Amino acid sequence: MLNLIIIGAPGSGKGTQAELIQENFGLRHFSTGAQIRREIAAGTEIGILVKDCVARGELVSDDLVNKVVESAISQDKEGLIFDGYPRSIAQEEILDQLLSKYHETPLRAFIYLDVRKELLLERIIERGKTSGRADDTPEVFEDRYRAYLKETQPLIDSYRKKGILVEVDGNGTPEDIYNNSVKPLMESYLK
Ligand code: AMP
Repeated sequence: MLNLIIIGAPGSGKGTQAELIQENFGLRHFSTGAQIRREIAAGTEIGILVKDCVARGELVSDDLVNKVVESAISQDKEGLIFDGYPRSIAQEEILDQLLSKYHETPLRAFIYLDVRKELLLERIIERGKTSGRADDTPEVFEDRYRAYLKETQPLIDSYRKKGILVEVDGNGTPEDIYNNSVKPLMESYLK
């Protein structure tokens, strides 16, 4: 069993790599952003509460995100690929508590996709042409990137200090990043 955390800025390729891992290794991809967008589309209580915040590129309150995460963790005892969670030191502490509550061996691995900012913006603009996401615009990207620097960068730094972070150069094509870095890592974790 493995809980894999893929961490990186908006547009770093977390979702793309998580999909490739899911296809090839059978671990379920769980994206808090995607789940939140489903809640918004379905007009659920949570969806209504978070809609404006997501459109502005701000982080949703921990209380609401944690509900979404607890529901996924309690159903998937085999482990998950976490994409977009945890996004702050506070969320990391809650994830710790949730994993020890629901999973017998809360084994975790951490992959950081490191991508330069100009490329992140290019990818978000490209994705915005087809994603239909209100937050895939150059303006909202800047706010999402600011939230990333403020909340997520300290978490990345703390994983790095603990020596548990695997840093992957995410500036290439999805296939190259997967074949050269992510796939061999997964093989070493799951052997
Ligand atoms: P993403 O698809 O990961 O880029 O997430 C899209 C948006 O969903 C973010 O900009 C936030 O508004 C919200 N969101 C997703 N994951 C989280 C999280 N872990 N904590 C707070 N907000 C989140």
